[in-house]
Amino acid sequence: MPKFPKAARTALANTQQRRNLQHATHTIRAKRAAVVGELPHWEALRAAGAQAKDEALTHLGDYLEQLEANLTARGAVVHWARDAAEANRIVRDIVTSKDTDEVVKVKSMATQEIELNEALEEAGIHAWETDLAELIVQLGHDRPSHILVPAIHRNRSEIREIFRREMAKVGRPAPDDLTAEPARLAEAARLHLREKFLRAKVAVSGANFAIADTGTLVVVESEGNGRMCLTLPETLISVVGIEKVLPTWDDLGPMLQLLPRSSTGERMNPYTTMWTGVHDGDGPREVHVVLLDNGRSHVLEDELGRQALRCIRCSACLNVCPVYERTGGHAYGSVYPGPIGAVLNPQLRGTASDVDKSLPYASSLCGACFDACPVRINIPELLVELRGKVVEEAGPTPEAAAMKATAWLLSDPKRLTLAQKAATAAGRVLGKRTIRSVPGLGAWTNARDVPTPPTETFRQWWAREHESEGGER
Ligand code: SF4
Repeated sequence: MPKFPKAARTALANTQQRRNLQHATHTIRAKRAAVVGELPHWEALRAAGAQAKDEALTHLGDYLEQLEANLTARGAVVHWARDAAEANRIVRDIVTSKDTDEVVKVKSMATQEIELNEALEEAGIHAWETDLAELIVQLGHDRPSHILVPAIHRNRSEIREIFRREMAKVGRPAPDDLTAEPARLAEAARLHLREKFLRAKVAVSGANFAIADTGTLVVVESEGNGRMCLTLPETLISVVGIEKVLPTWDDLGPMLQLLPRSSTGERMNPYTTMWTGVHDGDGPREVHVVLLDNGRSHVLEDELGRQALRCIRCSACLNVCPVYERTGGHAYGSVYPGPIGAVLNPQLRGTASDVDKSLPYASSLCGACFDACPVRINIPELLVELRGKVVEEAGPTPEAAAMKATAWLLSDPKRLTLAQKAATAAGRVLGKRTIRSVPGLGAWTNARDVPTPPTETFRQWWAREHESEGGER
């Protein structure tokens, strides 16, 4: 994957994708603004959400142990995974032990992060995505472009083509007379998925929240496909990032108001499924919970950076970001795109690769993401901090040397006056030419030109204009 500026250039050239993204982000943004505006206590809710997550993160070890104890007491099996490889191995071994070669999946960012589908495929196990947008991405052999709406970059006729071309290869084909009507597309997906739901022995999910004091896992969704996965198969495996823990049942209240309003612009999400271990005669017979670290402990060590772990993956920051709106998610080179991806990926994966080094710069720092974030993550602050880290790690560069020289110059008025004199002299020599025409400076001014230095400084101008009032000051 190329670094962000290069990948963004390719994305910007795709005008159809830009149109699709603009339409989708503006629609969700308007819906969100309307429902958030209905709540006069929105700021208090945001503060409560941030506080609950901070409490969990500050005492994460204690709450995780409490979660494990409560899950185990209610019949679930808890596994701990340090990294993606360990988590994938645990899931694969459980699936294989159930004598099946397929699983149905609830939409889950954690399983995308660890590339579970690919790991299962290598072991000969097919993982069927059941969320409509994830299904479109999977059938289209594509990558998700958005946290909440992974197929945001596709329009209806593209989806129709994907269904007609691909569904028959992996199950029930799309109807011959399929149109691009949303209702017809949804019907085709429903019929295609139904046979998979009824056949599957094992389901794999993530969790939006994991409540420590009850051992309850929570999944919120819009379509009901998740609930089919969470209730029908005999075995349920949930891969849960350790930062998903909430201390108490009461903390769920603010979250269930913040999340749907911020993500889909709804007052309440249509389906909220909660499960606490195993219950006789109801739901899966076996429940496994894989608690995933995969770099989160490392993020937790950084007092400023750890606020990124508050993220509830609502995607509001993506929908308001002017950079995301134009480039889409693929340019970020990760399952976490947009402003939260720009701060989370370099923290989870480090800044060794060109992609991760470039991500903190994938922002205009306009601050819209902070305003939109329901758990008050100060993304611009984190971006600036990470930029500093990238610069420090890069060691001496021409840019760093130029900044150092500028600091030296500006720290002494005499030096500054001398430099101004030199600049005005250069301005007189260059006359009406522009900087772009100066040999050696062409590359720097590729995207915009810069005027030549003025032929007199502000102080000189002031002195000349106000001679009668007492000369230079
Ligand atoms: S950073 Fe905030 S706005 Fe962005 S996805 Fe996470 S919770 Fe939502």
